[in-house]
Amino acid sequence: SNSSGRAPAPVTISTPTGNKWQVPSGIFINNSFHASVSGKTFDSVNPATGEKLCTLALGGAADIEAAVKAARTAFDTVWGKRSTPTQRSRLLLNFADLVDKHLDELSELESMDNGKPVWMASAFDVPDSAGCLRYYGGLADKIEGKTIEQTEGEKIAYTRIEPLGICGQIIPWNYPIQMAAWKLGPALAAGNCVILKPAEQTPLSALKLAELSVQAGFPPGVISVVNGYGAEVGEAISTHMDIQKVAFTGSTATGKRIMKAAAESNMKKVTLELGGKSPVVVFESADIEQAVRWVCLGILFNQGQDCTAGSRLFVQDSIYEQFMRELVAAFKAHKVGDPFHELTFQGPQVSKVQQQKILDMIESGKRQGAKVEVGGKAWQSPDAKFRNGFFVEPTIFSGCRKGMRIVDEEIFGPVLAVAKFSTEEEAIKLANDTEYGLGAGVFSENASQIQRMVSAIDAGTLWINNYTALSNSVPFGGMKASGFGRELGVDAVKAYCDVKAIHWNYGEKLDWPLPKL
Ligand code: NAD
Repeated sequence: SNSSGRAPAPVTISTPTGNKWQVPSGIFINNSFHASVSGKTFDSVNPATGEKLCTLALGGAADIEAAVKAARTAFDTVWGKRSTPTQRSRLLLNFADLVDKHLDELSELESMDNGKPVWMASAFDVPDSAGCLRYYGGLADKIEGKTIEQTEGEKIAYTRIEPLGICGQIIPWNYPIQMAAWKLGPALAAGNCVILKPAEQTPLSALKLAELSVQAGFPPGVISVVNGYGAEVGEAISTHMDIQKVAFTGSTATGKRIMKAAAESNMKKVTLELGGKSPVVVFESADIEQAVRWVCLGILFNQGQDCTAGSRLFVQDSIYEQFMRELVAAFKAHKVGDPFHELTFQGPQVSKVQQQKILDMIESGKRQGAKVEVGGKAWQSPDAKFRNGFFVEPTIFSGCRKGMRIVDEEIFGPVLAVAKFSTEEEAIKLANDTEYGLGAGVFSENASQIQRMVSAIDAGTLWINNYTALSNSVPFGGMKASGFGRELGVDAVKAYCDVKAIHWNYGEKLDWPLPKL
């Protein structure tokens, strides 16, 4: 064992389906679970009921210190350049299979911890996470440098792609297991050691992943999971002198702090996947029935807690009345409530704090003159069991304009701000009138118009006649204040590697003194 104390007992999570899942509760370092150095703990809450779910070890700077020590030893002796691409591939593929094998357990834990409907976790979050680990398992032995022929003299140059070392990964609470998989996959494929800090609101699935990583065969020290608060564990990661990179997903405000800490410590590399206020533009040629469905998915999926949530909707004036009638009807038919009910589309927000933040934003929209078309308050369950859950009614505001907080600021909830436009130029101007540049949607049947929009809109991801879905093989990330660096696809691995250039002389002689040319 390392400096952290004796292993705390696992917690038991009893779910509404009658399952009792055992989850490790400690700090995960060197392939085992420990009490935190301080001995402190924190509680995780079930957002559907507001009740305490379990108590877990709360990490601090001293636990990060221990994790870095373990990671450094692993990197220098069994991992990093001491590991082979084939070995890393096999371990990631094992890991992916184990995630698939624990589908029910991971889905239920994710739902209990985050509030998302369990059927969605089981249809999307968990299989996608396995898919992501599998994608990087497949990529691990295809990370290659290149040879660059030199025309002068008998020299060649080539590049080696090398792991960075120890990577800190700070993730949010909206897609806990997926964010973990997106971060672990490319980092491990490239041979890095990782120290993962889950969000304090959703610590459970990462602990389960840690347990599975041991079964998958990762050597001790390669993966650490340290739960704790951003201001302590997150700061300890971003200021540490022997962590070579920090990868972060979360708010723009926290992203700025992390970048500053990285600059002021050891100039560690930084990738940031931050907030958004993504526009969706619906032109009059669009298939209205389909566009309504995708717009609903874009803002209501995951309770609106999605960095690419299509939160600003612009509808061409000629179809506006019809579109809004159908959209409002769809919102009214939308099922909110028990995350364990098979018909529920929208569960509770992740925390009381987030629910209150969204309700405050809704009040600001009313005060600033936008019109509530549907929703507009906390959602009350008819079932007493969920009376203290953190629910919000799916909400649409019309008559929205720049200067309103609901238009300018990320809400991270099921709240859509709508405005009309008449010309394509106007739509482009409205869509780009934001500090963010993460996602965007365009609905149109006019191919030339679509291509003009694709070129004009500032966003890292554009969806044409669809919205929300991503793919493990397609790069994802932001423009403008939405951050930089790409996750997923081949591009993500580049952000976990250094490129070393080698100039190799196999015959050229140096004349001395240098001849004048
Ligand atoms: P946050 O950005 O503060 O939290 C995300 C992660 O960063 C968590 O693990 C947290 O512990 C950590 N963190 C916090 N402070 C830190 C610090 N000083 N140094 C290092 N790490 C730190 O987000 P939040 O407060 O949970 O949510 C606030 C808002 O952020 C939301 O309403 C939403 O708008 C946005 N958000 C965006 C995403 C996204 O996917 N882009 C995810 C979550 C939240």
